[in-house]
Amino acid sequence: MEHFNVEQKIQDFIAKIEARNPNEPEFLQAVKEVAVTVIPFIATKKQYSGMKLLERMAEPERTIIFRVPWVDDKGEIQVNRGFRIQMNSAIGPYKGGIRFHPTVNLSVLKFLAFEQTFKNSLTTLPMGGGKGGADFDPQGKSDMEVMRFCQAYMTELCKHIGPETDVPAGDIGVGAREIGYLFGQYKKIRNEFTGVLTGKGLAYGGSLIRPEATGYGVVYFAEQMLKTIGQDFAGKTVTVSGFGNVAWGVVKKVTELGGKVVTISGPDGYIYDKDGISGEKIEYLLELRASGNNRAADYADKFPSAEFHAGKRPWEVKCDVAIPAATQNELFLEDAQLLVENGVICVTEAANMPSTLDAINHFLDHKVLFSPGKASNAGGVATSGLEMTQNSIRLNWSSEEVDARLKEIMIGIHKACRDYGKEESGYVNYVKGANIAGFVKVAEAMLAQGVV
Ligand code: GLU
Repeated sequence: MEHFNVEQKIQDFIAKIEARNPNEPEFLQAVKEVAVTVIPFIATKKQYSGMKLLERMAEPERTIIFRVPWVDDKGEIQVNRGFRIQMNSAIGPYKGGIRFHPTVNLSVLKFLAFEQTFKNSLTTLPMGGGKGGADFDPQGKSDMEVMRFCQAYMTELCKHIGPETDVPAGDIGVGAREIGYLFGQYKKIRNEFTGVLTGKGLAYGGSLIRPEATGYGVVYFAEQMLKTIGQDFAGKTVTVSGFGNVAWGVVKKVTELGGKVVTISGPDGYIYDKDGISGEKIEYLLELRASGNNRAADYADKFPSAEFHAGKRPWEVKCDVAIPAATQNELFLEDAQLLVENGVICVTEAANMPSTLDAINHFLDHKVLFSPGKASNAGGVATSGLEMTQNSIRLNWSSEEVDARLKEIMIGIHKACRDYGKEESGYVNYVKGANIAGFVKVAEAMLAQGVV
């Protein structure tokens, strides 16, 4: 009876979210994944009953949508759409990246902001959840066009953010260059030099290790997962997707720990490098990304040990550990089936929501070690939190100090996931663990602060 009630509650909840947020498939996907694990937990906690905590968490505190007009190099006027989703501020100022990509829309940013709330809670640092972006495509734009776009975007955004209100950072399409332009415009308009953005350059308040942090954190997390079955990265074959900042950090750290990364990918297909992506090839990833033409194929032109597989995903390559590090919904059920057939033991998400719900269920059903991005990629935002701390105390920590704190945070997140996700068989369901552990802190803060 009890079980039936909980199932019904989950279905009712999802139906409401669906009706209220039509045409938002990514947002619905993210909420569903949380609802199926968190609602049964809520049902066991008397103090949460009737408080509509998850309902409140699934409704942004504020959504800002604005016009971003700018002038391109030809003198033509361009119009983009800018967003900032201020999802949840129960445990700290809104915090989360900005994405510039043609696929950006309300659904994508709401899913990201929703996930960010749980992720930031898991870091144990005082950061609420937010996300922003624009449907601007930086590909093929000149430096000056990117600068003018960033200035136009910040001209509106600066009215809504601040170091104690909302602290954006980078995400896909927003790296050090964009953060610099965004910071410059904020400072000019507000006449304030503050830690309003993270991912800043070292010369103006950035933190060492922030560029590497997401990828390193993912690998520190995967190390902990492997440790639960008495294994480590030494001698492991690892497949990675993407070739951006996150993939770069992952490849660097896996290689350092004795693993061999054999793939990276782009929108055009994937690269298989039988010799492993190490040494100068790792630094080449940065060049590839900076080239701005989004072609993984260029890697194969440069390094003859690599084969390019056009239009394919790297999940068909036999591996011990798979690390999806590109973007949402890039690993489908058929990929999960192939990975499992080929003997994968650990799948650690580095991107946000790269696996579809049925792919996740396939991994869980087959007892593969599987961690959701909101847990395993939290090292990026955690190090942003460390950047905020350094800005507040007006000091810079050494890379060793930041890296040690990052590692400690990732070990802590792993432990929290284990505490809430361990099943009777001993198998750790990291999806359940991450969702519940992330939920609890936000829920407690919301309960304490009343209906606001
Ligand atoms: N965009 C990153 C993420 O998905 C980092 C956000 C931040 O540093 O605020 O977590």
